[in-house]
Amino acid sequence: MKILLPIDGSEFSKKAAQVALRISKHHSAHIVLLHVIASSGQERKKWMEEGADKLLEVYTKSMVDDGLDGAMITSLIEDGDPADQIIQTAELNGVDRIIMGTHGKTGLKKITGSVTEKVLRNSKVLVLGVPPNYEI
Ligand code: ATP
Ligand code: MN
Repeated sequence: MKILLPIDGSEFSKKAAQVALRISKHHSAHIVLLHVIASSGQERKKWMEEGADKLLEVYTKSMVDDGLDGAMITSLIEDGDPADQIIQTAELNGVDRIIMGTHGKTGLKKITGSVTEKVLRNSKVLVLGVPPNYEI
């Protein structure tokens, strides 16, 4: 099994990572970590790239600290529209499911944030949205 775990560094994507970790351990599933640099047309800047690297590193380290084999984790950085990139990465990498937060950096203003909404609307891959109150 292969899981796509799109992360934005919010508390909600941390929770999604804990769910992915648990599923990965149970099913020996590979995790593809993805951060999308939403640079809205402008060129990708060095600091954005460094921030993305750091974020992926922190998530990888915390999963390895929690007992996941580092060889099970792949990290990817893409730029562009987050939802489009999540959908495309899922298809290109043949993932079985996407595990993501229902919310992100902006918080709880709607039922889901716009990235999750757009992924749910357009993805052909199964999406597991982790509710903000889910207790793992
Ligand atoms: P909005 O962005 O619409 O203001 P929000 O920030 O609260 O709302 P979303 O952006 O939809 O909510 O975030 C929901 C989930 O989508 C996050 O928990 C994360 O899993 C994923 N996500 C959001 N932005 C990115 C990104 N740039 N790269 C990778 N994953 C992302
Ligand atoms: Mn967001």
